[in-house]
Amino acid sequence: MRKILLQESEIPTKWYNALPDIPNGLEPPIDPATGQPATPEKLCAIFAPPLLEQEMSAESWIEIPEEVLDKLTMWRPTPLVRAKRLEDAVGAVARIYYKNESVAPAGSHKCNSSVAQAYANKVSGITKLTTETGAGQWGSALAFACALFNMECLIYMVRCSYEQKPFRRSMIHTWGAEVVPSPSDTTECGRRVLARDAQCPGSLGIAISEAVEVAASRKDTNYTLGSVLNHVLLHQTVIGLEARRQLEIGGEEQPSVVVGCCGGGSNFAGIALPFLRDRLDGRRIRFVAVEPAACPTMTRGHYAYDYGDSSSYTPLLKMFTLGSQFMPPGIHAGGLRYHGMAPIVSALIRESIVEPVNYTQLPCFEAASLFARSEGIIPAPESSHAIRAAIDEARKEENRDKVVLFNLSGHGHFDMGAYDKYLSREMEDFELPDSVLEEAAKTLPAFGFDKLGVA
Ligand SMILES: *Cc1c(COP(=O)(O)O)cnc(C)c1O
Repeated sequence: MRKILLQESEIPTKWYNALPDIPNGLEPPIDPATGQPATPEKLCAIFAPPLLEQEMSAESWIEIPEEVLDKLTMWRPTPLVRAKRLEDAVGAVARIYYKNESVAPAGSHKCNSSVAQAYANKVSGITKLTTETGAGQWGSALAFACALFNMECLIYMVRCSYEQKPFRRSMIHTWGAEVVPSPSDTTECGRRVLARDAQCPGSLGIAISEAVEVAASRKDTNYTLGSVLNHVLLHQTVIGLEARRQLEIGGEEQPSVVVGCCGGGSNFAGIALPFLRDRLDGRRIRFVAVEPAACPTMTRGHYAYDYGDSSSYTPLLKMFTLGSQFMPPGIHAGGLRYHGMAPIVSALIRESIVEPVNYTQLPCFEAASLFARSEGIIPAPESSHAIRAAIDEARKEENRDKVVLFNLSGHGHFDMGAYDKYLSREMEDFELPDSVLEEAAKTLPAFGFDKLGVA
C-alpha cells in the first residue's frame, strides 16, 4: 500500500499533552523581574486564557474544540505515505513512511496550531493578533486562520525573508493580513535596533520583540507564537496521533525511529510525542531531532534559562539555547534559525530520550532533490533536514526491516530560489566557529546558567 488515508470522522478529537509524562518534569518559566515563576496574570496581557490553561495543564488528553476540528477537517486527516520509490533510490533496508503535512492550506504543519490559537483568542474577546515570521510559514498560517475567524492580523516578517520571499508576503496579503519588515520603525525595540544598525537583516528574536510590544500595549490585541511553547506542541500532536492510527489500520508495525526537523521543536514534537509512552513503557523506539549545523541549538547550545526574544520582553524559559542575541547565518531553512528550543523537547534531550543531530545544508538539499525526483513533492528546505536523517537511518543495518517515520513538515514552493542556488552549485556549507557561539553565549542571563545540563 502506498498511501494510508483516514476518514474525516477519524480525525483525533483530543490533543495529547506530554507534560505529565515527562520524566523529572519541566522547570517553570521565570519572570525576570522577580526571579520567581511567571504568574498567569502577567502572561494574560499577551496570551488568551485557554492557551495559558493548555500551557500548564496536568491533563493527559485535552478536548479539541468543535470549531477547531471543523477547520482542521479542511485538510486533515493528512496522508501517511510509504516512500517506496525513495527507499529504492537510496538503498534503504528499513521501510520509510512520511506524514504529509504539506497539504495544509498555507503549506505546512503550522496551520494545526494557527487555527487553534486564533479560535482561543476569538472566544476570549480578542479582535487582533500579532506575530513574527521568519521564512513566512507561520505568518501565512496565522493569516489564513485569522481569515477563517474574521480577525485582524499583523505580522512582523524578518527583513531578509521579506525581501527574499515576496510571494509569502503576497499570500499573507491575500488572506487579508498586514505584514511589516522587521526591524521596523513601528515599535520602540525596532527603532532601537535600527539606530544601531540601519541595514539590520533582522532575526526571529527581534521580530518577536516587535510583535510582543504591540500586543502588550493594546487590550484588544494578543500575541501568538508559532512554536516553542507547550500549547503549540500540544496542537501539533494531531500529526503523530493520526500517524499511529494509520500504521495500525494499514497493518504496519509502529515505528522504531521517528524523525523530525527542529526550528522551535513543534513539528518534531507533533510527530514524536504520541509515541513517548511506548518508549517509557520500554518499547525500543528512537526519536531523532534534526537541526541545521548553522544554528546548532540542541547539539552545541547550553541548557539554561534564556529569553525567547532579543529585547528580553518574554519570560525566561529553561531550554537549549545559543543565546537570544545569536544571529544565525543566512541559510535557506529560514524556519530553523531560532536561537532556542521548546522546553518540552529540551527536557527530553536532558533525559536522553530525544537524540539531537545536525546537518549542513548541502547534504539536506541533496536529500530533498532525491525526494522530489522519487516521491514527487518538492520539500521545504526545513523538511529536507528530516529527509536527510530519515534516509541515513533507513540505510542502517540495525534498522533492517523496521519502520522509519518522518514528518514532511511542508512543501518548498516558495523556496525555489534556494533550489536554484543548489542546482547551480552556488550553495555553500561552512563551519560555524566556536568563537561565534561563545560570543552569543555571553549574553545568556546569569539566572540558572549551566552548560549541557551540568549545573
Ligand atoms: C516553521 C517550520 C519548521 C520549524 O518549526 P518547528 O516549530 O520546529 O516545527 C519546520 N518546517 C517547516 C515547513 C516550517 O514551516
